[in-house]
Amino acid sequence: MLSQTKPLAQAPPLDDPEAFQTALLNWFRNEGKSYPWRDTTDPYAIVVSELMLQQTQIATVLGRDYYGRWMLQFPDVATLAAASEDSVLKAWEGLGYYRRARNLQKLAQVVSTEHGGEFPDTLEGVLALPGVGPYTAGAVLSFAYNKPTPLVDGNVYRVFARLFDSHEVVDSTAGQKQMWAWAEALVSPKHARLYNSALMELGQTICRQKHAECEACPVRAFCQTRSPEALPKKTPRRKTVFQDEHVLFQVSNDQLLLTQEQGNRRQGLWKLPPRPEDQLEKLPLIYKAKYSITHHRVTLHVYESHELSVEDCEWQLLRDVQELAMPSPYRKAVDQLLQDRQAFQLKS
Ligand code: SF4
Repeated sequence: MLSQTKPLAQAPPLDDPEAFQTALLNWFRNEGKSYPWRDTTDPYAIVVSELMLQQTQIATVLGRDYYGRWMLQFPDVATLAAASEDSVLKAWEGLGYYRRARNLQKLAQVVSTEHGGEFPDTLEGVLALPGVGPYTAGAVLSFAYNKPTPLVDGNVYRVFARLFDSHEVVDSTAGQKQMWAWAEALVSPKHARLYNSALMELGQTICRQKHAECEACPVRAFCQTRSPEALPKKTPRRKTVFQDEHVLFQVSNDQLLLTQEQGNRRQGLWKLPPRPEDQLEKLPLIYKAKYSITHHRVTLHVYESHELSVEDCEWQLLRDVQELAMPSPYRKAVDQLLQDRQAFQLKS
């Protein structure tokens, strides 16, 4: 997809690509936002930010200082490679999609063991790292090494679809091929670092999904669409699936009964154990909350239980529960229920 020799699906319909790059770069030099990962050329710091931002908003990553705390705890590849999986998952708690944290650690281990701790600086080398696809490879090579490597994310394909008035479905194979071809043809040969950041920021701040601020747009003179809000065309979203989870809250001798997730998505994370299917006893419902994960809308029901025997569970001391990595909906439930329990004990 990123090969420099591959023929373009279709050259970008721009008379003067250099003038387009200059307009974009000038705007970004004056208006570009400062983020911690933009003030560094350390490929490890860049890859951390890219993986964090894959499915999480910048405001969350910065607002709750996930990035800063991660970089303090795991400042380099060697530290992350040697860390325990529990500490890695705990540091990722709240960001969701925990596979990203595991991939990041695997990547650090491969860079440590197979590259002597030095990040590769070729497309083939970076793409061979665990969890790295064309987007992350483009980010590492352009942001860390200023190599003219294209990258396409949701912001970039929105800008391109509007700029070139493309009605191709952007997440189709043909649409993706087209977007990457345009990105490859247009990336600035000398200023790839700034150019790629500028293109993404244009999509984040000016050419936004619901409202394109065309009057303020630095590349308005090059833009071919008359109806920005109708673009890009995308495959319709998957239907929402509603589901329920029924779990137990069982405390005994200052210990809480927990189970460790085996499923792929949250493997290794701790959660409240499921209510046994054959549990006929009417248990009191003590907590209920809704959360979303991809296209699923889940209602979490927590029941208080005493002395129920549940398979594949472990007792964890209450004082240690904060140290265990838990999916956010479970963390909120456990914190709330433990607080309620403490308040009740103080009163009685
Ligand atoms: S002119 Fe409007 S639609 Fe075109 S790229 Fe700029 S903000 Fe987007």
